[in-house]
Amino acid sequence: MLARMSGSPSDDEPPPPSIASLGLDPAELYNLKVLQGVSLGAVEGLLSGCALRSLAPGEVLIALGQENRTMHMVLSGRLRVHLESPESEPVASLGAGETVGELSVIDARPASAFVVAAEPTRLLSVEESSFWQLVNASHDFAINLLVLFAQRLRSNNSTVSTNIRLQREYKKNAMIDALTGLYNRRWLDEALPRFVRRYGRGIPPLSLLVLDIDHFKRFNDTYGHPAGDAVIVHVAKCIQKHLRPTDLAARFGGEEFVVILPDADISGAFVAAERLREAVKQSAAVGPTGEVLPQVTVSLGAAQLERGQDGTAILSVADAALYQSKRGGRDRVSIGKAS
Ligand code: GH3
Ligand code: MG
Ligand code: MG
Repeated sequence: MLARMSGSPSDDEPPPPSIASLGLDPAELYNLKVLQGVSLGAVEGLLSGCALRSLAPGEVLIALGQENRTMHMVLSGRLRVHLESPESEPVASLGAGETVGELSVIDARPASAFVVAAEPTRLLSVEESSFWQLVNASHDFAINLLVLFAQRLRSNNSTVSTNIRLQREYKKNAMIDALTGLYNRRWLDEALPRFVRRYGRGIPPLSLLVLDIDHFKRFNDTYGHPAGDAVIVHVAKCIQKHLRPTDLAARFGGEEFVVILPDADISGAFVAAERLREAVKQSAAVGPTGEVLPQVTVSLGAAQLERGQDGTAILSVADAALYQSKRGGRDRVSIGKAS
């Protein structure tokens, strides 16, 4: 076939079959992206040797993981591309003029997706040997393939960057407490070691507060869980409102919060803790039905990061100070000392 494409047909050879003999409308061929600008005269013989196929809706053309040595050109109808199974949500749709399967013809690797007919679909299927003959016979065909791959590469790159952005967003959401909008414990577990690395030499200093609502079980039992939730949100707002922009607050669990105070020594931390304690005591939450709820108090423990301490160590010093505040009568701030 290739010899006939590059040389002149010999007298005893039959003339090449024509597209008309396949029952193909030339307009359908001109519509194919991969044949744009290709002189049909140069490839007619090759194309007429290809198979014309009809698919019924739901018929699987290409199966994930299977060998595929055929490029299919869509003449009419629609194909859908599915990644996991023919029943999974389609990731792409191919209409008249588009092609599928050429990648596995070129790299001889198994198909990377399922391709299924979404409606009655007619295809012109080009086997591997004819595919390479088309590449040899038509420079324009080869260029069209390059353009097609460049477009796919660009669209894949944009999908990858969208996915990275979404992943970052999911990660960010996974670090936020749904009730209060503060950071959650997962964030603290990741962030605290970073702060310890940065402030581990003690200059500049770093301090940490642990804050716990007093007698909160009693509050829940008296006013109900939804009112308790409103108090947790209220305390979170108080914390946020009375911190410096560089301070960071997290809901550690239930009714317990942790505040990281970069560049604060223990006396600065004590002042900040007292400010939070007063702010909570002097304000009241609004309950689920709009009623003003009774004020609550909070107890706090403060600790300054010491040389050689890790995140767990400073947290447990602050926690011990918090329990000192509880034992001492609650509604107070205690300073922790590393042992
Ligand atoms: P203390 O002053 O010693 O801290 O006493 P307490 O009752 O606050 O402490 P305890 O740890 O015994 O109880 C904490 C209570 O917080 C238990 C639980 O009912 C309540 N709680 C924990 N998480 C939530 C929450 O998300 N919403 C509400 N409404 N209550 C919560
Ligand atoms: Mg409590
Ligand atoms: Mg508690």
